[in-house]
Amino acid sequence: MNQKLLKPNELGILALGGLGEIGKNTYCFQYNDEIIIIDAGIKFPESYLLGIDYVIPDYQYLIDNQDKIKGLFITHGHEDHIGGIPFLLKQVKVPKIYAGKLAMGMIKNKLDEHRLSKATDLIIYKDLDVFTFKYMKISFFRTNHSIPDSFGIAIETPVGTICHTGDFKFDFTPIGPIADFSKMATLGEKGVLCLLSDSTNSELPEFTMSERRVGESIKEIFRRITGRVIVATFASNIHRVQQIVEASIASNRKIAVFGRSMESTLKVGLELGYVKCEKDTFINREQLKIMDENQITILCTGSQGEPLAALSRIAEGTHRQISIIPGDTVIFSSSPIPGNATSIGNTINKLFRAGAEVITHNPLTDTHTSGHAGQEELKLMLQLIKPKYFMPVHGEYRMQKIHAELAQLCGIKPENTYVLDIGQVLAFSNKGARIAGEVQSGAIFIDGSGIGDIGNVVIRDRKILSNDGLLVVIINVDLSTKEVLRKPIIISRGFIYLKDSQELVREIETQTTDFLKGILKSRKNIVQMKNELTDYLMSLIYDKIQRKPMIIPVIMNVKRQSA
Ligand SMILES: [Zn+2]
Ligand SMILES: [Zn+2]
Repeated sequence: MNQKLLKPNELGILALGGLGEIGKNTYCFQYNDEIIIIDAGIKFPESYLLGIDYVIPDYQYLIDNQDKIKGLFITHGHEDHIGGIPFLLKQVKVPKIYAGKLAMGMIKNKLDEHRLSKATDLIIYKDLDVFTFKYMKISFFRTNHSIPDSFGIAIETPVGTICHTGDFKFDFTPIGPIADFSKMATLGEKGVLCLLSDSTNSELPEFTMSERRVGESIKEIFRRITGRVIVATFASNIHRVQQIVEASIASNRKIAVFGRSMESTLKVGLELGYVKCEKDTFINREQLKIMDENQITILCTGSQGEPLAALSRIAEGTHRQISIIPGDTVIFSSSPIPGNATSIGNTINKLFRAGAEVITHNPLTDTHTSGHAGQEELKLMLQLIKPKYFMPVHGEYRMQKIHAELAQLCGIKPENTYVLDIGQVLAFSNKGARIAGEVQSGAIFIDGSGIGDIGNVVIRDRKILSNDGLLVVIINVDLSTKEVLRKPIIISRGFIYLKDSQELVREIETQTTDFLKGILKSRKNIVQMKNELTDYLMSLIYDKIQRKPMIIPVIMNVKRQSA
């Protein structure tokens, strides 16, 4: 951080991602020459970011302060918390990464894929571990979430203790260990300066349903179904996978697994002991063919209607091993992530068309529950930790805002709640809190494996191309005689079908020729002529057919051949 932003012995808190958005969570804590980072996530792109695979934060602040970084602490293994690690390590030297057992398993796979295994030291932390640096001391409190091994992190600093909840909910009957309530309460008793808390479900006036309830409903549904059961869920939700395994065993079904991420999650889950069952619970594709339909569970990816995932291909009829047969029941053990409703709807239509029954999550079926705290749980967290200051994180602006109001209901002073944006620096000293300024922050687009070589201009071009197509106009002129030499050549891709649009093409040809004849007489250079021609054609075409294709004029200066 620019030393001018923070005074000596002030603690600075800032997010490079995760505020005003769900995704790319990256929080930084700086005290003098010491920086601790919590999480390094990616965001999946909104649909207007055509052809972009991921979005990562602008890491400039960390690049500028590389020598101060002591370590990166990971709360849990979701992509919006660990997905950015390879991209961060390619730009910034991070000496150590600390993570729980499962998250570390997933990080290791990622680093191997990117050939970065030697780029940093990996340290697995446990519930009771404490890591002490010159100024800051890091400890952990276990929480519940939709992936095992989720932790909140406490940072003890010379000006007070900061708590970051990570993603959490309170589940009194979880699958796996229960959240460490007493540790949270103890932190609160000792005194917490500032709490950073998950705002994802701050709009829901409820207590999120227990994961165990979902297990019971799934078991109940399995009991009454005859024929094959096909279940789609999030691969990383290992507790859910475990419950689907248990429901299958209870209804005498064997499980076949489809989808790359589901297969790899199960591998890690079985290896590390998060999924427990006999080996013969799983069957391969050959066994699947000869089993009785009433004894089959197919566990697959694709609960979000992702076009390449197993379920979408099964629904489409393009999956190599599985197709829908009448009598199949498909269960969505998931809820739509905003933005995916259309593709999920398409998949469901195709499944019905192919003859399957489809069960989705609703208040009657209970086939899914969220991993994030509703309002009542957020209040519980606030009452346990009892912070002096509050900073809602992990949410879009309205979620942060509502969360801040909840905090005020729980007794936090309005002037002590900070709804911040990425890059803003909140500074704490013995005297209190202040906004110290801003560091560089933003979104970097990842296309394939390249970092940040795709800018806004490229995205805008892709958007124009996908909406309105491309029009290329090639004209030969002789600049010395100021003549247009022949009829322009018009090429269209995705704009109009030339053969069916003769009239418009002729209009573009004559107008281009006339326009150029006009500006050739002025003393403009080729670039100026191109720009003016583009503007001219743009408004001509918009007037005629209300579309704005990308227009590329090619003006070639050639000497007239003397006959
Ligand atoms: Zn999460
Ligand atoms: Zn998250």
